[in-house]
Amino acid sequence: MRIACLGGGPAGLYFAIAMKLRDPMHDIVVVERNRPYDTFGWGVVLSDETLTNLAAADPASAAAIRQSFVYWDDIAVFYRGTLTRSSGHGFCGIGRKRLLNILQERAQTLDVKLVFETEIDGLSAYHDRDLIVAADGVNSKVRGGLAHIFKPDIDVRACKYIWLGTRAKFDDAFTFIFEETPQGWIWAHAYQFDADTATFIVECSETTWRRFGFDQMSADATVATCERVFARHLGGHRLMSNTRHLRGSAWLNFNRVLCETWSHDNIVLMGDAAATAHFSVGSGTKLALESAIALAEYLNTEPTLQSAFRRYQDERRTEVLRLQSAARNSTEWFEAIERYLHLDSVQFSYSLLTRSQRIGHENLRARDKAWLERAEMWFEEQATGEKPNRSRPPMFTPFRLRDLNLKNRVVVSPMAQYRAVDGTPTDWHLVHYAERGKGGAGLV
Ligand SMILES: Cc1cc2nc3c(=O)[nH]c(=O)nc-3n(C[C@H](O)[C@H](O)[C@H](O)COP(=O)(O)OP(=O)(O)OC[C@H]3O[C@@H](n4cnc5c(N)ncnc54)[C@H](O)[C@@H]3O)c2cc1C
Repeated sequence: MRIACLGGGPAGLYFAIAMKLRDPMHDIVVVERNRPYDTFGWGVVLSDETLTNLAAADPASAAAIRQSFVYWDDIAVFYRGTLTRSSGHGFCGIGRKRLLNILQERAQTLDVKLVFETEIDGLSAYHDRDLIVAADGVNSKVRGGLAHIFKPDIDVRACKYIWLGTRAKFDDAFTFIFEETPQGWIWAHAYQFDADTATFIVECSETTWRRFGFDQMSADATVATCERVFARHLGGHRLMSNTRHLRGSAWLNFNRVLCETWSHDNIVLMGDAAATAHFSVGSGTKLALESAIALAEYLNTEPTLQSAFRRYQDERRTEVLRLQSAARNSTEWFEAIERYLHLDSVQFSYSLLTRSQRIGHENLRARDKAWLERAEMWFEEQATGEKPNRSRPPMFTPFRLRDLNLKNRVVVSPMAQYRAVDGTPTDWHLVHYAERGKGGAGLV
C-alpha cells in the first residue's frame, strides 16, 4: 500500500512504524513541517499501561522509550504556604523531542521515508496514495479543509496556559504550585522528564491573565514574569520557552476536539487531529499512539479500507469519549478553582487528586494509606471538634445541621419499597437493617 502520513508527531510516526512492522512492502512517507530536532512542548507523561501496549506493538522502540523515562511516584501540592505530598501515583515522563527522535530513528530503520520542512497545504500532492493519514495535530489543516465531512466539535476551554521548561529540579514528585498574586491565582503543573529538565506548564483564568497584561507582553517578558511569580520554587533557575513554531502568543486556550466522522474516502484522522484530551490528565500522546496501533491492526485484519475505518472509529471513539469525560472533569476543576480556594490544604489536595473522578476515596487508600488516614482524621476533627484516635471514612462522621445532630452523612432517598404495612416494618426493612449491621451503608 502507498501511504502518506501527514504530520510527523507521535501519531503519524507510530502509525508508519506499526504498518511497516506488519508489512515491510508498504511504501510510507511521513511529511512534517519542522526539522527533525525542532519541536514544541517539553516533556509528556505516559503510564506503564501505555508502555506495555507499546512493547507489544514494537519492542524495539518501547525499550528505547523505557530507557529514556524518568519515574516518580509522588504528587506534591504547594498551596497557601503548605506542602502536601501523597504517594503511589506512579508516573513516567519523557521529553517530547526525545520521544520523537526515537520514533524517527525507528521509522528510518524500517525504511519509512521522512520528509521534513514541508508544509502540508491541501491533498493534491498525495492524490496517488492509497491511504492518507491526517496526523497533523490539534489545528489539523486536513480536517479543516474537510470540516463539512469530519464535523469537528471544538470546545475552546476557559483557562490560559503556556508550556514552558526549566532546569529546576522536580525529580521526586509531580508538582502542583498554586500562587496567590495581586492579579489573581496562577498555578503550575511541573514534572521532570529527563535528568536536567522539567516541564513547567503555567495556567490561570483569562481575568488573571489580562490583569497581568500577558495579552500585551512579549514572549521574553512573559517568561520573566512567570519566573518572578514562581521564583521560590525555581531555586534560581530560569524558565524556558520553545514555542517559536507557534504563530502569535505562546499562551493558548486548550481546544477539546472531537470529530463526528473520522474518515472519508481514503483519508483518516489520527491523534489530536481526531480528538484531544486536556493536558491535566496527561493522556493525549497515549491516545495518539494507541489509535495508531489500532488502525494498523484493523487495516491488517479487515477485508477493506472502509471496514477497517469503521472499526477504528467505533472502537477508538468509545475509548476517547471515556478519557474525554475524565479530562472534562479535570479541566472544569481548574476552571472553577475559585470554588476550592477557601479550603484547608488537606481538603484542597483531596479535591485536586480526585478531580477527574477516576480516583475515588478507596483508590486513594490503595495508593497511600497513611496519607488518606491523616486526611480522614483531619476531617473527623473538623466534624466533631475532637482529635480522633483512629481514622474512619468521612461518610461515617457526624453532621450537625443547626440543632439537628446526624450520626453520619449517609442519606438514602425514601423509596416506595420501604413503605410499612399498617405502620409495621416488613422483611424488606429488616433485611436492610441487617445489612447495615454487617457494615452496609444503612440509613441515617
Ligand atoms: C501543554 C500540554 C501538555 C501535554 N502533556 C501531555 C502529557 O503529559 N502526556 C500526554 O500523553 N500528552 C500530553 N499532551 C498532549 C500531546 O502533546 C498530544 O496529544 C500529542 O502530541 C498528539 O500527537 P499527534 O501526533 O496527534 O499531534 P502532534 O504531536 O501535534 O503532531 C502533529 C505534527 O504535525 C505537524 N504539522 C501540523 N500541521 C502541519 C502542516 N500543515 N504541515 C506540516 N506539518 C504539520 C506538527 O509540526 C507536528 O509535528 C500535552 C499537550 C499540551 C498542549
